Amino acid sequence: MKRWLALGLCALLMFAPIGSAARAMEYVDYDWELSADEKVMRDAGFIEVHQANGLIWVKLMYGTTDNIAGYDLYGDLKRAYLHPSAALALGRAQRLLYAQDSTLALCVKDAARPLRVQQALWDALPDPSLRGYLANPKTGSLHNYGIAVDVTLVNARTGEELDMGCPVDTLDAISQPRYEQKFLKEGKLTQQQLDNRLLLRSVMTQAGFQTIPNEWWHFQTMNRAQAKQASTLIP
Ligand SMILES: [Zn+2]
Repeated sequence: MKRWLALGLCALLMFAPIGSAARAMEYVDYDWELSADEKVMRDAGFIEVHQANGLIWVKLMYGTTDNIAGYDLYGDLKRAYLHPSAALALGRAQRLLYAQDSTLALCVKDAARPLRVQQALWDALPDPSLRGYLANPKTGSLHNYGIAVDVTLVNARTGEELDMGCPVDTLDAISQPRYEQKFLKEGKLTQQQLDNRLLLRSVMTQAGFQTIPNEWWHFQTMNRAQAKQASTLIP
């Protein structure tokens, strides 16, 4: 009897559509591993960025010790989530980039960010004069609404980041697109570094993102008033 059962199971496995089995396993695995933050984000209708495009790299900087706070602020939040307007735009940007240069990929350094992390970052800034680079947690950042994404370009195969003149989250004028031409003339930014920034900006804006004048890596799909209407603040 047991042998017939085993044979029956083998036959089932042999003839079961591979795609549906893989999807079912993925679904179980995915739900099982959700952190508390991810549950809140999914309840808010946010989308994990790989659902929008599987070629995007994700290296959440606040989930490492290599960030402006100097410690891991994310704990078990390992995946990047965004409001659908930003997630779908990011998927479009990755497709545009692939069409232009398939050796490159987008790499998300930060996406939806809980408000408690915003407060921790605010408190960790070494100098209050640097607060111009960060939204006050009292009003909240567009990252807290899942509307903004911090992103750079990487080698699609190795994940190595392209040289953009300075790393993401450099709290210095060299980060600011509004001074790029000045820094280029002064030799503080090379043409290749500027071209890398321009390529990123080109695919992101074509995909529907807005830029800001003081961070080359930050993109958003709407302003604060629109975000308050359309999205949810992640606590
Ligand atoms: Zn940002």
